[in-house]
Order: sequence, then structure tokens, then C-alpha cells
Amino acid sequence: MKEMKTQKKITLLLLMMIPSLGLLLYWFGERWLRALLLYLSTAVWAQRLVSHTSLAWRVASRFIAGETVDEAIATARAVNAAGMSATINYLGEHVHSPQEAAYAREEIIRLLDCIHQSGVDANVSVKPSQLGLNIDPHLLYENLRIVVRRAQQTNNRIRVDMEESSTVDTTLGIYRRLRDEDGFGHHVGSVIQAYLYRSEADIAKLAAEGAWVRLCKGAYAEPPEVAFPHKADTDANFIHLVRLMLSDEARQNGMYACVATHDEAMIQATIAHAQTHQVPAESFEFQMLYGIRREMQEKIVAQGYRMRVYIPYGTAWYAYFVRRLAERPANLWFFIANFFRA
Ligand SMILES: Cc1cc2nc3c(=O)[nH]c(=O)nc-3n(C[C@H](O)[C@H](O)[C@H](O)COP(=O)(O)OP(=O)(O)OC[C@H]3O[C@@H](n4cnc5c(N)ncnc54)[C@H](O)[C@@H]3O)c2cc1C
Repeated sequence: MKEMKTQKKITLLLLMMIPSLGLLLYWFGERWLRALLLYLSTAVWAQRLVSHTSLAWRVASRFIAGETVDEAIATARAVNAAGMSATINYLGEHVHSPQEAAYAREEIIRLLDCIHQSGVDANVSVKPSQLGLNIDPHLLYENLRIVVRRAQQTNNRIRVDMEESSTVDTTLGIYRRLRDEDGFGHHVGSVIQAYLYRSEADIAKLAAEGAWVRLCKGAYAEPPEVAFPHKADTDANFIHLVRLMLSDEARQNGMYACVATHDEAMIQATIAHAQTHQVPAESFEFQMLYGIRREMQEKIVAQGYRMRVYIPYGTAWYAYFVRRLAERPANLWFFIANFFRA
């Protein structure tokens, strides 16, 4: 009864929002709609409004394997059967207490154990703010160390996702400490975002270190002081960084490049570079998000390249889901249409 009332309120709100969103799009273009959605992805009031409705979950579940670890493992098994690897992410970010961070850490350890027992081909991606980055960087370090140790024990790997630009130095610092000082080596990896001006220098350093790196465009709202405001510049930088990661020197140092994008132009540029410079297909991989461009994932595998699918699961899906809407505003219309079809 209470949920029906909330849904009615949301429906009314959306009814009022549709013309305003249309006007926004007409006046300011997609960039502003993206900025609005990225703001909503962090707004607590919007999260409360949307995340408790079953209708919203129905649409969000297009991008999410389910709420339980068993559903994530079953999805990874299906992805493996289609010739692809997986990286599984227990959803959650920006926790407010050490207890919440410890809860996430224990769930991630359980996930590593389930991967080990089930035998699926999957590693694990984690968000720094889920393990305590915003509370105390040392708490993140301690939690990550426990998680990476379990990954090493179960012959697996942890990918440390990258969040807002203000966290890059701390995240890379902790990643290097785990990799070098604690000796976890390739059991831990990092992510670089092509929209940041600093990323060329970061990739150069990581290439010299022979690191295991995922390159993506970047999913957060960043000011022009630190990130390219125009998509064309981010795209050009992405291709430039892929070439650095696939260079003979980087590969001789042991770098393994993960090219995370759904953008056909980025994928074609990567393949063209690999073919022209005789880069073996097994020295890099493509990565895509679960629920996005499935047919392209299959096409890449059929061409003989490696593909890894990022599979999120859990109940804290709101922020992840709204970032997916921001990346492709057409998803928003799909979301609204489903609301009214229900
Ligand atoms: C495996 C993986 C891991 C990632 N990890 C991080 C991370 O750690 N930190 C971070 O900041 N970002 C991360 N991202 C997100 C990334 O930064 C981009 O926001 C996202 O991938 C969209 O950029 P794109 O390269 O696909 O190119 P875009 O230019 O945004 O999209 C190209 C085309 O792909 C399709 N597409 C893209 N997004 C969607 C969508 N949501 N729904 C439907 N179609 C879509 C559309 O057809 C679009 O035209 C990750 C992405 C992937 C694939």
C-alpha cells in the first residue's frame, strides 16, 4: 500500500519531469542532461525516492545480475559459456562508517570464495569508497589488503575501480603499496580514466612499471580544470592512451592492457593499432558492462579477441544505475517508458 502511494508520487513527479527534461535537452543539449543525471546519482533524496520502488528495480536490473552472490555467479557462468571472462562487482560506494566498510569487505571475501568454489572465470572489481576511502585512506588500505590477500590465496585478482578525480592520487598510492611493498604484484590492478588531463602521465608511469591496467573514459562529473569538457577530446586521448599501453616497450615491461569501452570507434582503433603493430590478441582484452551492447561483445569474441564483462550485483544499485542513464540519455526514455507501461 505504502509502495503504491510512493509509486504514484514518483509517476506524478516523472510526468512533470518529462516536459522539463525535453526542454532541458532542447535548450542545453545532452551535456547538461548528463550533468543533471550525474548530480542525481549522488543525491540522497533522489536515491530514497527511486531505489525503493520495484518498477525502478525492474529497469535497473537490465544492468545488474541480481541481488545475491549466487545470481552473480550464475551470470558469470553464462558469460563464460559465451566465450567471455567476467569481473564481478559487489555494488556499494561512499560508505559512512567503518562497520559498513567491514561488511562490504566480508561480502567481497565471500564472493572470492564463491568464485573459487564454483570455478567460474571471473575476477573481482571493488570501489575504493566502498571499503572506506572517504572515512580514512588507511582504513581503505587495511580492508583492501585483506581482500587482496584472499584473492592471492584463491589465485584471483582484485581490480580497484577509479572514482572521482580527487581520489586518484590516494587510490593509486594504495594500489602501488599493495602491489610493490606488500608484494601482491598482479593480484591487484588499477583503472585510469581518459577524460583526465593527468592520465597520460599516469599511463606512462604505469607502463614503465609493467602494470595491469583498465582504461575507461570516466563516469563522474568533473570540472574543466581537471578533465576534457568535450567528448571528442576524451575520445582522442583514449586512443592515444591505448597506443601507449600496447606499445612494445609497455608490453616488454609486462603491462597488460584492458580496454573498457562500448564505443565502436575506440574498439576499431584498438584493433587497427594491434593489427598494424603485430600486437598479439592475448596481450590485451576488451571489457564491457553487463547489459550493454551484447551483440558487439559476441562480435569481438568471434574476431578472436578477449572480452571481459563487468557484472554488478547487490542491493545498492541506485548510483551505478543512474550513471548508466547519464552515459546514454536514451536509457532515460527507456526507463520512463517502462514506468508508464507498468
Ligand atoms: C568494464 C568497465 C569498467 C568501468 N570502470 C570504470 C571505473 O572504474 N571508473 C570510471 O570512472 N568509469 C568506469 N567505467 C565507465 C566508463 O568510464 C564510461 O562511463 C562508460 O563505459 C561509457 O563510455 P564508453 O567508453 O562506452 O563510450 P561512450 O561514448 O559513452 O558510449 C559509446 C556508445 O556505447 C553505448 N553505450 C555507452 N554507455 C551505455 C549505457 N550506459 N547504456 C547503453 N549503451 C551505452 C552507446 O551506444 C554509446 O553511443 C567502466 C566501463 C566499463 C565498460
